[in-house]
Amino acid sequence: TDIRTLLLSRIRDVPDHPEPGVMFKDITPLLADPAAFSALTEALAELTVRYGATKIVGLEARGFILGAPVAVRAGVGFVPVRKAGKLPGATLRQAYDLEYGTAEIEVHAEDLSAEDRVMVVDDVLATGGTAEASLRLIRRAGAEVAGVSVLMELGFLGGRTRLAPALDGAPLEALLQV
Ligand code: 5GP
Repeated sequence: TDIRTLLLSRIRDVPDHPEPGVMFKDITPLLADPAAFSALTEALAELTVRYGATKIVGLEARGFILGAPVAVRAGVGFVPVRKAGKLPGATLRQAYDLEYGTAEIEVHAEDLSAEDRVMVVDDVLATGGTAEASLRLIRRAGAEVAGVSVLMELGFLGGRTRLAPALDGAPLEALLQV
């Protein structure tokens, strides 16, 4: 079967999660299916190699689950971007706007350098706020942005438009569009 059909068939729509009116895309059935998880890992690793990345940045928490096997498959390092307050070492911190209020993410400053080209990996691009903040962190760390690769883009939320300035010409690759 076509890989997109396989991946799409393993994503579950959960209505009203985490709040009323939201249709949550649940990837846990995909993770539980070894053929689908392997195909996803392979596709994201191919993008990582194609764009010449030296590191994967994975966004907490599902970006860790996807990004780690992709990094191993592509032969590059893995760097976690976490919600503020979790990383033990010296960090760079970046705030970004949510629908109501703000959030902050962090990365260990010493995990990225001017020699790095970074591919950001996450499961879902929604409003693009998290990915945009991660691109700022990567550039503040002195590294180059190789691109952003996600399993699924929720196009109606406008994340691609929001991300465009921070991408500055780097690619946004989504295996599935909704
Ligand atoms: P954004 O910052 O683009 O609005 O939100 C993206 C973050 O929220 C990602 O880290 C993603 O994991 C999570 N997210 C938002 N909506 C969904 C969804 O429907 N399904 C899943 N699996 N994650 C989502």
